[in-house]
Amino acid sequence: MWGIIATWRMAVEGITEADKMLKNGADSGDAIEVAIKEVENFPYYKSVGYGGLPNEEMEVELDAAYMDGDTLDIGAVAAIKDYANPISIARRLSHEKVNCMLVGEGAEKFAHKEGFERKNMLTDRAKIHYKNRVKEVQQQEIKPYSGHDTVGMVCLDTHGKMTAATSTSGLFMKKKGRVGDSPISGSGFYVDSKIGGASATGLGEDLMKGCISYEIVRLMKEGKHPQEACEIAVNNLDEELKARRGKAGDLSLIAMNNKGEWGVATNIEGFSFAVATENEEPIVYLTKNVNGKCIHEVASQEWLDNYMKTRTAPLEEK
Ligand code: ASP
Repeated sequence: MWGIIATWRMAVEGITEADKMLKNGADSGDAIEVAIKEVENFPYYKSVGYGGLPNEEMEVELDAAYMDGDTLDIGAVAAIKDYANPISIARRLSHEKVNCMLVGEGAEKFAHKEGFERKNMLTDRAKIHYKNRVKEVQQQEIKPYSGHDTVGMVCLDTHGKMTAATSTSGLFMKKKGRVGDSPISGSGFYVDSKIGGASATGLGEDLMKGCISYEIVRLMKEGKHPQEACEIAVNNLDEELKARRGKAGDLSLIAMNNKGEWGVATNIEGFSFAVATENEEPIVYLTKNVNGKCIHEVASQEWLDNYMKTRTAPLEEK
């Protein structure tokens, strides 16, 4: 059995590449890295890698993580600037015994010494998004932090090895130095090849309050199907946050166990995700939470066409 599952429609090209590799017996570390890089490299996905949305100071600061479910090795970078593929740097760091999570300048120094590709990650399009948002926020039409999506993936290869990985530009207009859940073990991702893995997208500050990726893996360890594990974890955290704090941020989770069974849960409308397994060609689903149960529907061609059209539409300064 092999399989890969990922947050958001933007992951489907990446998981299609990974699927081809997994079919041919590739290592899940190699497959997940290729899949995430595909998303990082596509300039029109504005919340991951090249073209990612900038922070308050118009700088693109990226977070990424990689975990090996066999060895439990973890590598992560946070608030790294001007490197093309944060995921590859995170994976390289996962081979270190210590110093395996680096932030800012330290992460950039490491990447430079290791010969990773430097790149100005701020595109003209992202600058326009930034300038427009500054105006919108001034006019108080919109919350400064809305408009963010992390790519998070869990992968199983034919040898039974599982990996998890994330990559993101984090919250749009975040403070310089702000780090969300994505590079944080147990919150943005977790994987154990003996059980399965999970990964998150949404409001990092709230996802971290439930260590939600670890919680899903823990529930799967108790014997829960990934779908049930995701629903329990998302619904519980959503309820706790609302009860204690009056509201809950966006929480969307994907998971896969070591049999290639998968699950997804969300507390928002219209969460999309992509999945491919030995039994399922790469496909995009949309999911919604109806009274605690998440119902997945295959995305229509119209939805998919519209998605690409809006992502790549010409953008003008307001
Ligand atoms: N979880 C990410 C963060 O808080 C953002 C997202 O997934 O939308 O940085």
